[in-house]
Amino acid sequence: MSSPEFFDAGDPVAVVTDQPLDRVLDYAAPEGGCQPGAFVEVPLGPRKVLGVVWGAGQGGVARAKLRPVIRVLDVPPMREELQIFLRRAADYTLTPLSGMVRLATRAPGLGDPPSMRRVYRPGAHRPDRMTDARARVLAVLEDYGGLAFTLGELAEAAGVSTSVIKGLVKQGAVAEEETPRDRPYPRLDPALPGKPLTPEQAAAADALRAGLRAGGYGTTLLRGVTGSGKTEVYLESVAEALRQGRQALVLLPEIALTAEFLTRIAARFGAKPAEWHSGVTMTERRRAWKMVGQGGCEVVVGARSALFLPFRDLGLIVVDEEHDTSYKQEEGALYNARDMAVLRASICGARVILASATPSLESWVNAEAGKYDRLTLADRYGAAVMPELRAIDMRAERLPSDRWISQPLQAAVEARLARGEQALLFINRRGFAPVTLCRACGHQIGCEHCDARMVEHRFLKRLVCHQCGDTRPIPEACPACGAEGRLAPVGPGVERLTEEAQALFPEARLATLSSDLFGSARALKARVEEIAAGGADIVIGTQLVAKGHNFPELTLVGVIDADLGLQGSDLRAAERTFQLMRQVAGRAGRTEAPGVALLQTHQPEHPVIRAILSGDEEGFWRTEAAARRQAGVPPFGRMAGIVLSAPEMQAAFDLGNELARRDAPLRRAGAQVFGPAPAPIARIRGRHRVRLLVKAPRGVALQPAVADWIAQVKLPAQLRLTVDIDPQSFF
Ligand code: ADP
Ligand code: ZN
Repeated sequence: MSSPEFFDAGDPVAVVTDQPLDRVLDYAAPEGGCQPGAFVEVPLGPRKVLGVVWGAGQGGVARAKLRPVIRVLDVPPMREELQIFLRRAADYTLTPLSGMVRLATRAPGLGDPPSMRRVYRPGAHRPDRMTDARARVLAVLEDYGGLAFTLGELAEAAGVSTSVIKGLVKQGAVAEEETPRDRPYPRLDPALPGKPLTPEQAAAADALRAGLRAGGYGTTLLRGVTGSGKTEVYLESVAEALRQGRQALVLLPEIALTAEFLTRIAARFGAKPAEWHSGVTMTERRRAWKMVGQGGCEVVVGARSALFLPFRDLGLIVVDEEHDTSYKQEEGALYNARDMAVLRASICGARVILASATPSLESWVNAEAGKYDRLTLADRYGAAVMPELRAIDMRAERLPSDRWISQPLQAAVEARLARGEQALLFINRRGFAPVTLCRACGHQIGCEHCDARMVEHRFLKRLVCHQCGDTRPIPEACPACGAEGRLAPVGPGVERLTEEAQALFPEARLATLSSDLFGSARALKARVEEIAAGGADIVIGTQLVAKGHNFPELTLVGVIDADLGLQGSDLRAAERTFQLMRQVAGRAGRTEAPGVALLQTHQPEHPVIRAILSGDEEGFWRTEAAARRQAGVPPFGRMAGIVLSAPEMQAAFDLGNELARRDAPLRRAGAQVFGPAPAPIARIRGRHRVRLLVKAPRGVALQPAVADWIAQVKLPAQLRLTVDIDPQSFF
């Protein structure tokens, strides 16, 4: 794409808007002209919408008939690097370019003129009369050494009403001034000392630093058991990027982890970086978006969508816990942030660090093939060693049907309690019980809108659908047969396990950690810190606890059902189970006290369970890679999942059948289509769902073939079609 340096007023320009239209529209450049990449407001029908000047107009509309751009926004134009990235990401994921532009402009009020806010600082004069309240205000201002406060902040910090401050302003004892709302972030100082690294850590940090110094694109898989100091090591790369004056982006899989991480950055570099995720206020989002583009922000810590920020000079992207499934966006534009990080880095000449204790098979294969460099930290930092892993054969345990904690696990927990250490009981299921069954007629309570069972949540006193979020009170009578008092919970969830633990260990202090039990990331963080400080004896948790939280006193992990993830036909079932079990086990023994992980299983001889226990990670990946290669599935083959959904099942099937029949564009490219078949969850939110699966050998240009194939059919109004390239889950 070669575009002129500047468009004069009236020149035709091509604009991509953030509206769901798959078209680039021509407009006339506004009074004063505009640059390529300019963020603009344009008329679309009766509305004004946000867009980006993509390049020269495509012609086709007479110059005199073009509608003019309304105005150019007061932000730097989108760099060519980001335009190329969005275009390639759109092509890769078969998402309209407008969808990508939308991701890149997700900050409210971008078009607003730089607004001002009123702040308060110490004034030049003394007040005529000193009161307690006035003295507190002046003391706060002095304590913070001239830092500017808003009226509300100052009133709160001093514990006074705002009228006290206003009174001080009148007397000149407090100064009131206007400053731009979007302030630059404090500078981070790479010269502050990091922790002294172990020889193994230092070698890895040196190699990564050398990569950054060499410049240009490169990806490194940084493998290391939990607690080996991967974070310490990659912070040294962040320091190097800062020294080079380039920006760094650190992606984390879970918002709840950001707070702890920001504290680590602040400890290392003397100030906190920008945050970007759904828990950040709108004002902070806009500030981050603008400062990233203007150079007032050096490091961003955030969720996957931070990849679409308008960085000025991005030099490093870290994807922490790179195997984590939350990097795949499962709604709207279906992209995998790990893959898109590599794509963006390759375009803007940045380095990527993929950090994990249990990498994804994709990344492992890329490292094996030499596409990625590989660095390994084999040892835990300090005296900590990897926990010992053992299976508890549940076939030999005769537990009643409403009990899940085996005798050996119970004994192990008791031993920890006696020594004042912590234990974790892990079950990857939210709620009280996954099934509510009528003992009179056998009916299982399901969701009215989805093909899914309602899950009892006892803390909420409601049944909840985990697909659509619908809830209802737990009924007294069976909705099918009307029998009263015969509904019974079947199977365990984290809440039910808490109940069992309460009965078994009445003296122990329990803490239940499940994502739905906390109203906010802050509440969760507070609880996690409390537990880490010894505020609980037994932690009972879901997947949430597997991710990065550090509990120093924890020496025992009990996995209630290690077989849970192995059921089902997901091609990644083995990989996911292996990763999750190793991660959870890694929670034990992170300080001097050695840890033990006990896995309750009905199939201790299952190859995946054996691999988890033996800790032979290389062996596991080699076996798993061989099996996938044999089956021709990712990463050794390519896949695209198509979901058709409609209010009527038949309509979705009819279109599915038509697509299956008209598969010539796929066959020409060397791809094959399977289906249509009802999706594993055949109904969500009242829409019936039908799936097709496209498979192709590696090396086939899958996306253009799929695009041609789909373009053959016209979508009836009620029908929705989504394409998922490299699907991660098949629901
Ligand atoms: P990982 O990211 O691999 O799980 P971390 O970087 O979080 O590991 O390190 C685990 C713990 O060990 C952290 O509390 C960290 O501060 C500490 N640690 C790691 N390396 C060092 C070091 N060289 N000096 C001091 N503390 C370290
Ligand atoms: Zn539902």
